[in-house]
Amino acid sequence: MESYKPVWLKGAIILAINLANAGYKPVTIGLGERDFYVDIQSDTSLTLDEAKKFAKYSEAEFKVEDNYINYNGIKIKMENSEINIPSSNPKYFEILNISTHHPEPTVQYVRIRGVAFETEEQLKDYLSWLEKAEETDHRLIGERLDLFSFHEEAGSGLVLFHPKGQIIRNELINYMREINEGMGYQEVYTSHVYKSDLWKISGHYTLYRDKLVLFNMEGDEYGVKPMNCPAHILIYKSKPRTYRDLPIRFSEFGHVYRWEKKGELYGLLRVRGFVQDDGHIFLREDQLKDEVKMLIKKTLEVWEKFGFKGEDVKVYLSTRPDESIGTDEQWEKATNALMTAMQELGLSFGIKEKEGAFYGPKIDFEIRDSLGRWWQMSTIQVDFNLPERFKLEYIDKDGSKKRPVMVHRAIYGSLDRFIAILLEHFNGRLPTWLSPIQVRILPISDEVNDYAEKILNDLKKSKIRAEIDYAGETLSKRIKNAYDQGVPYIIIVGKREANEGTVTIRGRGNIEIKNIKFEDFLNRLKNEILNRDVEQTAIKTLKK
Ligand SMILES: [Zn+2]
Repeated sequence: MESYKPVWLKGAIILAINLANAGYKPVTIGLGERDFYVDIQSDTSLTLDEAKKFAKYSEAEFKVEDNYINYNGIKIKMENSEINIPSSNPKYFEILNISTHHPEPTVQYVRIRGVAFETEEQLKDYLSWLEKAEETDHRLIGERLDLFSFHEEAGSGLVLFHPKGQIIRNELINYMREINEGMGYQEVYTSHVYKSDLWKISGHYTLYRDKLVLFNMEGDEYGVKPMNCPAHILIYKSKPRTYRDLPIRFSEFGHVYRWEKKGELYGLLRVRGFVQDDGHIFLREDQLKDEVKMLIKKTLEVWEKFGFKGEDVKVYLSTRPDESIGTDEQWEKATNALMTAMQELGLSFGIKEKEGAFYGPKIDFEIRDSLGRWWQMSTIQVDFNLPERFKLEYIDKDGSKKRPVMVHRAIYGSLDRFIAILLEHFNGRLPTWLSPIQVRILPISDEVNDYAEKILNDLKKSKIRAEIDYAGETLSKRIKNAYDQGVPYIIIVGKREANEGTVTIRGRGNIEIKNIKFEDFLNRLKNEILNRDVEQTAIKTLKK
């Protein structure tokens, strides 16, 4: 990719000059990861076809001045001015995308993204490579499925989830709520912003300083929360707790912000604001092993729900690092509790020597995706530090005051990052329960629209997310569209189906079943969704 960048930059210059010659106002050119871009100042957008007219080679004299291109007195800012502009010229162009953004509140730029090559073969090879990348890169899948977007004027690393993306988030949250409830968690809500005093007590003010967003209001300093723990601790401290109350388990889908460096941001995998399926447990030392055991069992159950099991899940125990707080006795007891929990479950696990946090030992879960990559997901961390800092206590049987053990835990980790991993793992073809559109109905002709609408109504009554793609495009084009948009089930209805009250069902992988009683399919589909099956069990059981 890097070797193409000089010629892309030249391509961007040529496109900008062509646009200038047609009366447009090009202001900036630069390089993205997979293409070049030209920004023009304009209140109205261009269509892809309009832009394509300008994407061709033309002879033009221009001068390079620092980070500007000077073309007949028109100055165009050039990002990536460190790249030497080649003397050879690209002759083969492709425009990939057009979008708009606001560099200033009252100014709009139209951004044209494209590529340019010296030979036709290079262009063809690149476009077929790009098509494959679109299948496996969550940023491109997200664009294709209309799930989320990032905008320059809104800030880097700060995502906007579209309606369809929010459906996926809600489904993941609903499932995790059930899992948490099953373990006895009480869900809480805490604010996005707290006074710096809180972050000073917790230690985040110094330890997390470079990622903490701070601001002043009415003479007080505030910080946007990078973690939910201190707020959960204040809820614990809001009243006296006794040995009988423990374990106390708080969960929250907590929105946290961490100011990562701009260069380290990467789609949903690395953002500045994200939601954790966070949870904190306050418990007695003697309760630690059983609590961790339950948590491990549930975590493995969750991963299996998404199809990650056996060899594709690894568990690690991280032990005391050289620099740490807490007594030898505390470390030994906690590390033993974690280890015994795993042993009693018959789990094989690796040990990461000295890789625990400075405040306690931890268990990590890694999963392997369909591309063979390992991702660290769930974590269970014992913490000796925060109970100390916040002077947490409970009243024991004998009336004495004791300090509880605290455990931080997350199963998905970051919801946003997990969505990125799922999109790449499934190539955008999510399990039915997670799919924003679960069924698309294709009437063969307008004559059967009534029947299609009746089916749509029945699906909606069963809370299945369905829509109709009315006749207009050819049937094969509409089938392809549904497939490209990751829709798991297609229902095709024609005259015969309408007369007989049946449907033709298409699932993924070209499975098609004709003349099925609609009710029969509906019941199986409801079960597939209710069970949150990772496979398309509705059509697979029909096929048998
Ligand atoms: Zn925490």
